[in-house]
Amino acid sequence: MKKKISSFLTIQEGCDKFCSFCVVPYTRGPEYSRSIESIMMEVKKLIKRGTREIILLGQNVNAWTSKGNKKFSLTLGNLIDEISKCDEILSIRYTTSHPLDMDLKLIETHQKNKKLMPYLHLPIQSGSNNILSKMNRKHTVEDYLKIIEKVKEYRPDIAISSDFIVGFPGETDQDHRKTLELINEVKFASSYSFKYSPRPGTPSADFEKQVDEKIKNSRLQELQGKLKKHQLVFNQKSVNSKMNILILYKNKKNQYIGKSPYNQTVIIDEKLESNQIFLNRCKKVVGQIIDVRITNSFQNSLEGEFSIESLGY
Ligand code: SF4
Repeated sequence: MKKKISSFLTIQEGCDKFCSFCVVPYTRGPEYSRSIESIMMEVKKLIKRGTREIILLGQNVNAWTSKGNKKFSLTLGNLIDEISKCDEILSIRYTTSHPLDMDLKLIETHQKNKKLMPYLHLPIQSGSNNILSKMNRKHTVEDYLKIIEKVKEYRPDIAISSDFIVGFPGETDQDHRKTLELINEVKFASSYSFKYSPRPGTPSADFEKQVDEKIKNSRLQELQGKLKKHQLVFNQKSVNSKMNILILYKNKKNQYIGKSPYNQTVIIDEKLESNQIFLNRCKKVVGQIIDVRITNSFQNSLEGEFSIESLGY
């Protein structure tokens, strides 16, 4: 079996939120959490296959819950603490979260548990309360910003990413501007953005005031331009810093590919003299967390060198 340093592990399926654009509650049914016992068994199996990073997956991953032996329910923060007790696991992430399920325990875990990476993918979809209400998101922009503020209070360096839907039925120029303002306020480290397209069987497919395709295209372009700008700035800030990089594999171009704590792809070229010196000393880097000095940044990745100082030079 092929060794996989970073592995996905599904812990939760389904959704009870019923956003008006989404098929998940109809196709996957209500929220269902796997038991902690079965999750931990799978963690142990993944460890045996060489996994060092676990990415916990769920349509509403932070709605995960399990009745413990005692009378209280365990939530995602407790599960992360449990998984982090496995010495072999060096890094834990989770996706995708819903703002309404960001409980204090999970936020505290971002501060206290060093194996939980400082990265949070928290979709908002729109920066307009008018559209959020039509989307049936059940939270406002203000609620979302409060959660981000709280998370940053506990983990100031955390990287935030999000999802956006552009051109939802009834979205006006003013709604679109509000989304752009939110993007400028939060300065997302990365994000996914899509044009709205009606999904048969969902309430919003029958909404009036569907937005013209040309308008959707131009709004998407404008929004993606802003998101890209913030991502570039976020990546540029990493240059000259030293980061703990989990090395995932070596590619055919003799580059080591790793992942930063903030979910950035990091490329380390074996041919560089300093990297060769490092590799002569430290033979095994894949599957390890290594000190890397970031030397360059791009739109979607960083470039770095293994830090010789970390070997005592
Ligand atoms: S978008 Fe997410 S939260 Fe909303 S219904 Fe779909 S899965 Fe649930």
